[in-house]
Order: sequence, then structure tokens, then C-alpha cells
Amino acid sequence: MAKAIRHTVKRPGRIDGDPEVEIPVAEDLATVPGIPQRPKDVAFYTREYPLETQSIDKSADRQWALATQPDDLTAFREVQDARMEPMYEAALVSGEIEPTGSPVPGEDLTEDLRRMAREMGFGEVGFAKYDRRYTFAGKKRWAKYDHAICLALEQDYWQTQTGPSMEAEYAHYETYEIQQAMCLKLMDYIRSRGYHAQLHDGSDNSGPYVPLFVAAGLGQLGANGQLLSPHFGSRSRLMLVTTDAPVTYDKPEDYGIQKFCQECQVCVNRCPGRALVRDKVWWRGVEKNKLIYDRCRPVMVTYHGCAVCMIVCPVQRYGMKPVMEHYVETGEVLGKGTENLEGYSIEGKGSFGPGELPHFDRDFFKFPHGREEDWLFHQFKEKLNSKGVPEETELVEFATEVKKVLDKGETTFDIA
Ligand code: SF4
Ligand code: SF4
Repeated sequence: MAKAIRHTVKRPGRIDGDPEVEIPVAEDLATVPGIPQRPKDVAFYTREYPLETQSIDKSADRQWALATQPDDLTAFREVQDARMEPMYEAALVSGEIEPTGSPVPGEDLTEDLRRMAREMGFGEVGFAKYDRRYTFAGKKRWAKYDHAICLALEQDYWQTQTGPSMEAEYAHYETYEIQQAMCLKLMDYIRSRGYHAQLHDGSDNSGPYVPLFVAAGLGQLGANGQLLSPHFGSRSRLMLVTTDAPVTYDKPEDYGIQKFCQECQVCVNRCPGRALVRDKVWWRGVEKNKLIYDRCRPVMVTYHGCAVCMIVCPVQRYGMKPVMEHYVETGEVLGKGTENLEGYSIEGKGSFGPGELPHFDRDFFKFPHGREEDWLFHQFKEKLNSKGVPEETELVEFATEVKKVLDKGETTFDIA
């Protein structure tokens, strides 16, 4: 039975020059613009438990991931990283570069920058306050400017649908590469207008970017932990340019996603690692479906980034407008229960249709946890328990290894 519509959200077309789209939000899906939040809780966690980048807080699994990931991905990443090194360097120092032009008092660059970014090919462009509550502890001093330009570049449709695969990984990493070059150009323009600009790229994030994109009205957080934007769901790569140029912030929107995900649940049901959870919880002051990292990470690392949760999402596959129109007309989730939406293959495991999932044994989910030094201590404790107090030479070896890590050295791990 057709549902009543609470409101519609108007958005620019998918590609620059495309007509505007209107997305209907059913009465029973409407909640709040953006995401439900308890600002005092967000502030408390920011102050007492600041976020830190995965490469520091979860550094123990980095080398394990590099050693475990498929060889074709390693080979591709080595070549791509070498090619992108100058762009990584450029991003790192971008905030220090002085403007080349002179500002005009009273001007507002918002629409100039939006138009230019859209002409360059960005599918979603929005403006928000650069919210330092989400900045990683190690990046707080690095991040310089108060206004965020949120830029999403769509990832190739067909390559992505082949995932988990190397083909999908080409689309993933090459989108970052193209986008990084586009951002550097946009920043040159900002400097030519008399202002500073800093690039927060995808290789060394300054924090989670999704909250800023949500604040800028470019989508809402899905149950898969990703930004669901109107035209391509989570099939995009996100970057930020922050600036001191005068801009006007956009507003968050209610696309109905917060409740729609509770009706849909396709990613939750199809996740090979059973890493996604049905119910929302309050996490660091935000109401969300919290992903279980330890169930996801081994699948991502072993199977070309996995991304099943992106691929099976109807908003990614069909676009938000058809999905929401279908829900208004029928009360159902477009494609749910079909092989077309829910089917996928995992290399070495086979093909899995609706209701079918691969099996992994318990050992598959064992991998090094936490920081490198903490993992060394964990292993040491395990040895103490199983073999008793070690010889002095082993103690010295252990201390040397810990010191090497603390001095930012390299180490190798085995699973205790
Ligand atoms: S990447 Fe794969 S394992 Fe991780 S949450 Fe998504 S579907 Fe699950
Ligand atoms: S698959 Fe469904 S539940 Fe998961 S993010 Fe997409 S819309 Fe939400």
C-alpha cells in the first residue's frame, strides 16, 4: 500500500548539467536531518577518549595485513603508491602554502567553488564547519582551517559490482588517485583567490570524514558504516579540502536513511564476516549501527577489500530516488531478496545467493590487535602463561623488539 510522504529532498543531478532530482521521504521513515546526536556525549568522548588513526591505534595489524592480502593487490599498490608519492607529499604540506592572489573584502566563494568542483567531475560537493571533535589526536595540530569543502567522487559502477575482486580494487584506488589530483587543482584556485587550503586525503585521513559530509547534507550514515549519498550510495571516495576562504555552510538533510536501514538490513544479512549489527546503539554520542572491526578486518584483508556491504546496498545499486520511490509505492525495499542485488562470489569459497553465507573457521578471525607494542606484550604474556619465565636472552630479545617499535622500527608478528 502506498505510503504518505513526509517531505522531499531536492538535490543536484548526478553529473554537472543533469536536472535536479527530488527524493520522497515516507512518513514512517522521517527522523532528523543528519544523524541523531547527543552533543554533550560527543564532547565528552572527544575530550576524554579522542579518536586516533587506525595506523596508530591499530598498528599491530598493518604488517599482518600487508603480508596476508592478495599478491596482485600488493603489486598494484606498490606501483600506485610510488606514482602517488608526490601527491601524498603535496597534501601533507598543502596547508603551509601561501595564497598567490589577494582576497576581496565581503566576498563569498561558496558557489564559485561548488561550480568549479562540479565541472571537474565531483558528484557531491558541500560545505560544513570543519568539526574538530572528529579530528584524530595526532592530526589536531596539523589541521589548520575552519571550513570544510566535502568532495565525493563516484567510483566506476561496473567495476565495483564485480567485487570482491581486483577489478573493484582498481576502481577503489584509482578513484582516490584521480580525486587527489582534482583537489590539488581546486586548491590552486582557492590560493589564486587569496586564501589558504589544506588537503585531507584518503591515504592519511585526519579523522572520519562521514560526519562532515552528513553535516553538509550530502547523505546519511548507512547501517554499513558508510555515507549513503543520493546518486551512488557509498560507491564513492571522500576527500576534504579545508580553507580559510569565506564560504556558507550547507545544512544536513533527512533522506529517511536512518530508519530505512532498519527496514532494509540487506548489508547486515549479507556481510560474509557477520560484522554488521542489526540494532543501532549510542556510540560516542551518535546513534548508529556499529560495525564489529574484528569480524570485518580479516575478510577485508583476505578478499580484495571485500566491500560486499557496499555492493549489496540498494542505494548504491539503484540510486536513492528509485529506492525511496519504490518504498513509498510498495512499503518494500527495492531488490531485497533477489539474486541481482544480494548475490556475490568469494574467491575460493564459491557463490552465495540470498540467505547463503560463506563459512570461516575461528582461526580465520585471529590477527594482531591494538598497537604494535601492546601486541608484543600480549604475546609475551601468552608465552609466560604457556611456557613459564623465559631465559634471559629471550627477555633481552623481547625488550629489544619493544624498543624498536617504540623508536618506530619494524617488527614481525606471529599469532599467539
Ligand atoms: S567489508 Fe565485508 S566483512 Fe567488512 S563489513 Fe563490509 S561486508 Fe562485512
Ligand atoms: S544495504 Fe540497506 S541497510 Fe545496508 S546501508 Fe544500504 S540501505 Fe542501509
